[in-house]
Amino acid sequence: MQDTYQIWEWLADVKDPEVPALSVIDLGIVREVKVDDAKNVSIAITPTYSGCPAMDAIALGIRMALTGRGFGKIAIDYQLSPPWTTDWLTEEGKRKLKAYGIAPPVNEDMGSDTDALFQTPLVPCPRCQSEETTLISRYGPTACKALYQCQTCKEPFEYFKCH
Ligand SMILES: [Zn+2]
Repeated sequence: MQDTYQIWEWLADVKDPEVPALSVIDLGIVREVKVDDAKNVSIAITPTYSGCPAMDAIALGIRMALTGRGFGKIAIDYQLSPPWTTDWLTEEGKRKLKAYGIAPPVNEDMGSDTDALFQTPLVPCPRCQSEETTLISRYGPTACKALYQCQTCKEPFEYFKCH
């Protein structure tokens, strides 16, 4: 049991390649950590978004974090059900996103998921909290982020929209 506790600690240093301010723990994507008697590790992670290209990099980051720690095999499994939602982001994670200048996900309670993809949630500016913001691009630098601009401070910002 002590091993798994230690592993959670190490995983807190594995960053999301898309948002380096966030660790895989902040994202809430690590579902399970197990160590057997032979010190083989198995870790279950849930992708933030199916087909998220960052997942391979995240799995590699997890592997690297545990390499050279005296473990046997390290198995990383993708657990697709239940699907990840932004609710799994920790409060700490949301705070870090904001500090990084990315608007954390807002509650997009707009009915069915299919509809939500075509609607624009009201996203407050992470810098000045103004709600006068406009969507510039539905797809920001990565598929998980949209680009907004604040009409009050005029700063563009990214919105973490994976859900
Ligand atoms: Zn602003």
